Amino acid sequence: MRIATLSIGDELIYGEIVDTNAAHLAAQLIGVGLKVRQHLTVGDNEADIVAALQELSERSDAVIISGGLGPTSDDLTSRAAAKASGRHLMLNEEALLHLQRYSATQGHALLQANEKQALLPAKVRLIPNPIGTACGFNLRHNSCQWYFLPGVPVEMERMLAETVLPLLQSGVQHKQIFQTRVLKVFGLSEVQLDLLFKDLVEPGATVSIAYCVNYPEIQVKLRGAGTNQLLVRSQLAELGAKVLNKLQGCVFAEGAETMESVLARLFREKGVTLSLAESCTGGLLAKRLTDQAGSSDYFLEAGVTYSNAAKIERLQVPARLIEEKGAVSPEVAIAMADGIRRLSGSDIALAVTGIAGPGGGSAEKPVGTVYIALASQKGTTAKGYSFSGDRDRIRTASAFMAMDWLRRYLLTL
Ligand code: ATP
Ligand code: MG
Repeated sequence: MRIATLSIGDELIYGEIVDTNAAHLAAQLIGVGLKVRQHLTVGDNEADIVAALQELSERSDAVIISGGLGPTSDDLTSRAAAKASGRHLMLNEEALLHLQRYSATQGHALLQANEKQALLPAKVRLIPNPIGTACGFNLRHNSCQWYFLPGVPVEMERMLAETVLPLLQSGVQHKQIFQTRVLKVFGLSEVQLDLLFKDLVEPGATVSIAYCVNYPEIQVKLRGAGTNQLLVRSQLAELGAKVLNKLQGCVFAEGAETMESVLARLFREKGVTLSLAESCTGGLLAKRLTDQAGSSDYFLEAGVTYSNAAKIERLQVPARLIEEKGAVSPEVAIAMADGIRRLSGSDIALAVTGIAGPGGGSAEKPVGTVYIALASQKGTTAKGYSFSGDRDRIRTASAFMAMDWLRRYLLTL
């Protein structure tokens, strides 16, 4: 079934709100094996809505429209629907009854302005709205079914689930199945990944690989489609095994898991504790790790030792070391990690020191130079990195690199 979605609203084309309806519709449809072929957005302009409806109907079996069913003068969808389908706009008795009943449940009589919401194209099937005034409606134009829903996300979502999806599904003979497996990768670029996987998927295959960057992680999306669920599942499993084999240890999480949730699981499994000494990340690492509920099971403490004085006084980093090597150096990173581990009594300590920019760089240590140290009973080691981008990206990458190192270390325990 060829499906299109149409979002209506000036706020959308002015960039004032994000079109979450389009995303929700697409995701819900995929969930029941229906794929959105195209999506269009138009403003609150009758001629544009009419043109969009006619255009989309020519190449679709169904169009799902959201927005513009309200009582105000900028809500033009019903009128445009009547015009585009060559129907009269009429008072729909059933919709009027709904409006009256709904107003009564809200404790007031129907407002004059709301009566406009019962003016719908002739001969439509109503799509009930249990939580708002605007009725949705469905009509057939040529060979295309139109489903009109209000723009308010909670109303649209409920009506989609309760009425539109069942109607769409009942019209499908050969049900398609779409499955997606998401692998979260850190440490390789999109281009490197693409090269790694270049021979894994043959042209015309029913499985595919897509990339989605959520800086600094990359999500590798393995997708499978077909009518035979078992076949789709086995082809996806086969592709997944090949991809995992190529990626070795670079996959840190899968599906809904995050780096932080994976670390939480590992800390609990291994029964070890952590402390942090942060400089350039300014507490970002502590924030991300403690975003996990219950992180006090393993997270003991963190210090944002930003100035040299703080590093010397709080962590007992030797002043001479900072003078000789600089605050951004492997030696100071090691002393910071040792310092916080000693103070907190944690099993593991991590320290981050670097130049996040935009100032403070030199030829020898340009902006983006970051040292991370990990201390444990096995000893303390530091690694140097060179990140690029603005201050925010450098800090994000530093925190993520530190978490990934932690993850890899915990896996060895
Ligand atoms: P109402 O009865 O509230 O007027 P409506 O069907 O006319 O409903 P709109 O006026 O288009 O809907 O939108 C109502 C509100 O719903 C908007 O102000 C906006 O906050 C939200 N909204 C509309 N369309 C979208 C969309 N595509 N994505 C996310 N939010 C949306
Ligand atoms: Mg409105």
